[in-house]
Amino acid sequence: MTTRVLVLGGTGEARRLAEALVGRVHVVSSLAGRVREPLLPPGEVRVGGFGGAAGLADWLRAERIDAVVDATHPFAAVMSWSAATATAEVGVPLLALRRPGWTEGPGDVWHRVPTLTAAAEALSTWPGTPTRPAGAPALRVFLTTGRKEVGAFADLPHWFLLRSVDPPEPPTPARLTVVLDRGPFTVAGELDLLREHAIDVLVTKDSGGDQTVAKLAAARELGVPVVVVDRPAVPDTPVAATVAEAVTWVESFGGGMIQG
Ligand code: NAP
Repeated sequence: MTTRVLVLGGTGEARRLAEALVGRVHVVSSLAGRVREPLLPPGEVRVGGFGGAAGLADWLRAERIDAVVDATHPFAAVMSWSAATATAEVGVPLLALRRPGWTEGPGDVWHRVPTLTAAAEALSTWPGTPTRPAGAPALRVFLTTGRKEVGAFADLPHWFLLRSVDPPEPPTPARLTVVLDRGPFTVAGELDLLREHAIDVLVTKDSGGDQTVAKLAAARELGVPVVVVDRPAVPDTPVAATVAEAVTWVESFGGGMIQG
């Protein structure tokens, strides 16, 4: 019998894990279907929600899944909770592949906030904002939190630069410029972007990883302050920080691997 592994994806790590597992086990990668043209991993791919924890539990049983790796983005907490509930119910082992968050270093000017709403609140009272004289240029904010989150900032009077893979949907801030792009990004490119748009403040989730970290180095170099949204609470699941660790975990199931 071939070991059947579900990788809950939507991240670069999930793709790399699927690449590493294909040929060793039967790997099914699952994507939410948010991105119009996703970068597809090798192996079997399914797209769309399962219908909550109950739907996922049914799916795990029907597909005779032996192990699940939750390699979703650190902010995809609903899916992570659903995976924990469903795997516990079905009795399937679960590992979270979760990259560590970013840490503030010398030269960084970070303002940590617990939620996106708190990030918007922080911007609404940003130093200088309430006292800006009429006609003064708007605060220029670089939003890197993703297109789904832009609604949290819709009521703010600031000027926003949003970078996302696909265009945002309303509600959006009145003053918004969108750059469609997908990482990885370079420090030189981020420096150009921050300078070109005269960015006053950067807003980011604490996503971690190296694909989108360059913006933090660029902000540090230019003295641009950063609002960092903390990660949401996720279930207390065994965690691997790297793809290699997750491969080892899958291999620990031993028997049933595809040979060669
Ligand atoms: P979420 O809020 O945790 O999940 C909402 C619902 O979307 C889930 O309940 C589930 O629907 C479905 N879903 C999420 N991930 C799925 C997956 N990998 N396969 C199948 N269904 C999935 O997730 P999200 O924050 O919207 O993120 C959606 C996807 O984008 C995730 O795969 C994540 O890895 C990726 N992503 C998210 C972010 C981010 O900042 N949130 C950034 C980069 C990539 P059902 O309840 O119907 O099963």
